[in-house]
Amino acid sequence: EASQEEEEDLHNIIKDEERIVGDADEHEFQAETAELLNIVAKSLYSENEVFIREIISNASDALEKLRYNQLTTRGDGEDLPPMEIHIKTDKYENTFTIQDTGIGMTMEELTSNLGTIARSGSKAFLKAATEKGDANSSIIGQFGVGFYSTFMVGNKVTVYTRSHDSDSTGYSWTSEGGVSYKITEAEQVNPGTKIVVHLRPECRKFAEEETVKNIIKKHSFVGFPVRLNGKLL
Ligand code: ADP
Ligand code: MG
Repeated sequence: EASQEEEEDLHNIIKDEERIVGDADEHEFQAETAELLNIVAKSLYSENEVFIREIISNASDALEKLRYNQLTTRGDGEDLPPMEIHIKTDKYENTFTIQDTGIGMTMEELTSNLGTIARSGSKAFLKAATEKGDANSSIIGQFGVGFYSTFMVGNKVTVYTRSHDSDSTGYSWTSEGGVSYKITEAEQVNPGTKIVVHLRPECRKFAEEETVKNIIKKHSFVGFPVRLNGKLL
């Protein structure tokens, strides 16, 4: 009979086996993105826990896109992992990790989606923040800043992603905020996207399972199973 720990491990797809290969390519954020990042990183927005809602909603969107693709193209015979969202908290590494088995990103998608601001909410946010001439917290709450909200709690964010298209290459995207990010090819990347948020010392609570569990229950309503450290929520 499997112990509960073995049972949980079975369901935990977050394995941390990715390996960087080759040299990193340094890219500059689009000016607007760098500006937004700077505001977000400096803000003392008290509801910074919303970063969890933002990245769960992105994971859910990615799974939705994969499901749509499968319905519209012939994906027969493909042996796909279950459509799930996995979250891992690690108190010792002080990290918060989320992994989905969704659509993933190609190199082009990585640079256009995580290097520029396409979403209208972010543009409106930036406009309001600039007009106020202040990194005002209330504006973050009003508009939401999507993926970039991870920089409210993290001093470094790493994304591993591999597109679900066949023969796709895996990539690692990493940034410490500022004006640039690095992209490197990576091996052992599962199809889908994994995001590792290296938490700031003052944001340690997001590496605690119980805290994260309560936040997910409070903010997130997703149509896909969410597992926290292997356990179904
Ligand atoms: P929005 O979700 O409003 O488009 P975000 O800032 O939250 O804006 O995300 C920016 C983009 O990054 C998304 O539109 C998507 O293309 C890409 N992205 C973010 N997270 C993921 C993910 N888990 N899987 C695939 N693509 C993602
Ligand atoms: Mg989003």
